[in-house]
Amino acid sequence: MTVLQDLVAALATGRVEVVDLTAPLSAQTPILTLPEPFGQTVPFALSEISRYDERGPAWYWNNFTTGEHTGTHFDAPVHWVSGQHGDDVSQVPPSRLIAPAVVLDHTAEAAADPDFLLEVEHIRAWEAEHGPLPAGGWLLYRTGWDAYGDDAQRYANAGRTPGISPGCAKWLAEEAPVQGVGVETVGTDAGAAHSFDPPFPCHSFLLGADKYGLTQLRNLAQLPPTGAVVVAGPLPIVHGSGSPCRVLALVER
Ligand code: MN
Repeated sequence: MTVLQDLVAALATGRVEVVDLTAPLSAQTPILTLPEPFGQTVPFALSEISRYDERGPAWYWNNFTTGEHTGTHFDAPVHWVSGQHGDDVSQVPPSRLIAPAVVLDHTAEAAADPDFLLEVEHIRAWEAEHGPLPAGGWLLYRTGWDAYGDDAQRYANAGRTPGISPGCAKWLAEEAPVQGVGVETVGTDAGAAHSFDPPFPCHSFLLGADKYGLTQLRNLAQLPPTGAVVVAGPLPIVHGSGSPCRVLALVER
């Protein structure tokens, strides 16, 4: 059998499971709120066009309004000033949308301290147990924050949410072999990252290094530390800085 025939057979028998890492997208989806005087993203909204009625007797459809960075979404390099000459979301090579992923679980630390920051030493300790980070893959950073995704206030936690230290973000961008970082929080940076040096170091370093972000992931607890393959499908919005994204993981059982 070919590799793809093997995969199809494994999917049919459940030997490869598809885990949905995507949060449902609705008007209740938590969004980032910036302080004045910065511009704001809008909540996701549906606007009904017709629903089997005089506006369209046999069909139901909607228009929708959303920010690019709403819900489970993909950050493209051009999202940040450091990556302004990089790819927009429509230019991200499709071959990079299917990639291996590892999961680093710091749920306990984030529960004890909502300002917990991932450091290089945490990753080195993880590597000592599990092996090197995957080349061209994702570092998925589990904090347990997906449990709060249906409660916008708890999810925002008054601006105190876990993240990645500036030194670790720089290391991930410049030295680690991964192509990006995925998180469970509203953005890849910590809630307090506006006060870091540089501010928003994950955005600044990673997007400036032609790497990517995935945010508001769910169900990372269903993934093994190593061995999953992530399929991330942002919309190819021309000139877009990011896009809501269906993120699926293939996991061998
Ligand atoms: Mn974003």
